[in-house]
Amino acid sequence: MVAEQLEARGIDDPELLRAFATVERHAFVDGDEPYGDHALPVGSGQTISQPYVVARMTQIARPTEGWTDANILEIGTGSGYQAAILAEMGAKVTSIERHEGLAASARTRLRYAGYANVEVHVGDGTAGWAGAGPYRSILVTAGGPSVPQPLLEQLHRSGGRLVMPVGSREHQFLTLVERDGDDVRSTELEPVVFVPLIGQYGLVEEREV
Ligand code: SAM
Repeated sequence: MVAEQLEARGIDDPELLRAFATVERHAFVDGDEPYGDHALPVGSGQTISQPYVVARMTQIARPTEGWTDANILEIGTGSGYQAAILAEMGAKVTSIERHEGLAASARTRLRYAGYANVEVHVGDGTAGWAGAGPYRSILVTAGGPSVPQPLLEQLHRSGGRLVMPVGSREHQFLTLVERDGDDVRSTELEPVVFVPLIGQYGLVEEREV
């Protein structure tokens, strides 16, 4: 997975490659092909992105000072795999998941894999988690129409980085937001397809429309 899916596609951060080689993806996702080059179901109608997309988002979100002891917020815990990658690199991770069952399962898997530096909360991540902020980086692993304002407010004023799929329900662009004081610079990167970010500052659940 590391050589064929990540390095071959230009992921070259040794720290990141080491984390992907260390975290056992099969401890977080079920099924026959946990290391396959595709998204996988994680329960509650949700999916985890293919390994390359997880790596790419992580590479983009990397704090300038590195991951060690960095305070990081993840929206959309899902299986807990992305949080484990961040924790493996030494980050202190707060992760929010709206599905209670997924949050409970991710907590168990993270504990079993030995990642004590991840806190998983159940709630609407579009409001962020102000109590543990500000964050050096925020990774939003579900797609929404725009970056939720509370997340921008919880981003570190000096060099905070946020990465999120921004766009319609069907198609988004991976978007990097960099904060410098009150200045916020947004850069649209490559096209992606993520499950929807449902919440107060995101989308309405489809059956409610
Ligand atoms: N990062 C995850 C992993 O490593 O397995 C994959 C995340 S999956 C692509 C997106 C997740 O975002 C789903 O589990 C979904 O329930 C969650 N989600 C969607 N809207 C949310 C919200 N407002 N707050 C918290 N979680 C949300």
